[in-house]
Amino acid sequence: MTEKIAVFPGDGIGEEIAEEAIKILDVVNHKYGFSIEIEKALVGGVAYEKCGNPLPDDTLQLAIDSDAILLAAVGGPQWESLDYSVRPERALLGLRAKLDLFANLRPAKIDPALIDSSTLKREVVEGIDIMVVRELVGGIYFGEPKGVTKNKDGVEKGINTLVYTTPEIERIARVAFEMAQIRNKRVCSVDKANVLESTELWRRVVTEVHNDYKDVDLSHMYVDNCAMQLVRYPRQFDVIVTTNLFGDILSDEAAMLTGSIGMLPSASLGSEKHIRDNLDYGYKGMYEPVHGSAPDIADQNKANPIAIILSVAMMMKYTFGYPDAAKDIEDAIQNVLNGGYRTQDIYTKGMKQVGTKEMGQLIASSIK
Ligand code: NAD
Repeated sequence: MTEKIAVFPGDGIGEEIAEEAIKILDVVNHKYGFSIEIEKALVGGVAYEKCGNPLPDDTLQLAIDSDAILLAAVGGPQWESLDYSVRPERALLGLRAKLDLFANLRPAKIDPALIDSSTLKREVVEGIDIMVVRELVGGIYFGEPKGVTKNKDGVEKGINTLVYTTPEIERIARVAFEMAQIRNKRVCSVDKANVLESTELWRRVVTEVHNDYKDVDLSHMYVDNCAMQLVRYPRQFDVIVTTNLFGDILSDEAAMLTGSIGMLPSASLGSEKHIRDNLDYGYKGMYEPVHGSAPDIADQNKANPIAIILSVAMMMKYTFGYPDAAKDIEDAIQNVLNGGYRTQDIYTKGMKQVGTKEMGQLIASSIK
């Protein structure tokens, strides 16, 4: 049975790093005898230039018809003055909403070879391996009413509404508990239940869902404390599950613990299962590096392709149920870093500096 991956390179460094990710997909496809088929399409600024729409209908249809999507990055200064409705970044929101990608997974794991790239002390960050599970299509970013109104005296009022329903909380809690079951069996649910009623409901529902996952330890933490604990003693965390807004902030904070933005992958999963031979192996989803399109280094063979290659590893794990292939990719990256090879963003004295293509090739060769 053929498994279909849509690849959307997008803008800036997108094309260069997507090419290296495809190289890795080809290698694992061949090594393990998978039937993975890849189809590319335009998204973001390049799609706007060609079709007047950052998310053309053909691209959206391909996303809907695929088992997984690999998106490199969108955006660039040349599109910053466009109307908000056709800005490249709208494509991301469109894909998340249309595919109902409600669970955003952002791992923050420190690579032992790069420990000194972190701005925090070695003894604080050593050994951290955190998965932030952020609810992605609800909460204050989407709640109604919202907007800015003006009263008759000319006083303006800005409104956003924090809304969560029981089913929305239940489904994200299940993803977090399932994630913890294949990791270190601890979930910390982050809320502001002492002040915000909607997150009081969040805490109650997460606690109820926990009854189905008794092999996992559950703790609760207020968001302000969590922000502090992440820099004080980050090793205490395994899986953090939280709302859209809190997750947006905490996942960036957790990411910074690891040092380099060019190293961080992410996954956004929907509720539709990926079925192969009548068995479900994971969730359909979209996989992306955490970084943007880095226009300052585009087309110079300088971009670090590791974040997008790690996104491919997440895809193998969470959509296709191929954990061996995922581990192979992760081990290959580790080998190459242990061999002293670095792109310019993670280069330190005494290491061997390589470009995007060379880094991709080294990782691909290490998998073979
Ligand atoms: P950015 O992540 O693109 O770049 C920030 C800095 O990190 C730059 O110095 C860049 O050179 C460096 N960098 C990023 N990725 C790198 C990589 N793989 N290898 C080496 N260095 C890397 O963030 P920005 O400059 O704020 O945004 C640039 C554009 O990207 C904007 O248009 C923004 O809207 C867009 N953006 C897109 C996404 C996305 O597609 N998911 C996310 C963030 C920003």
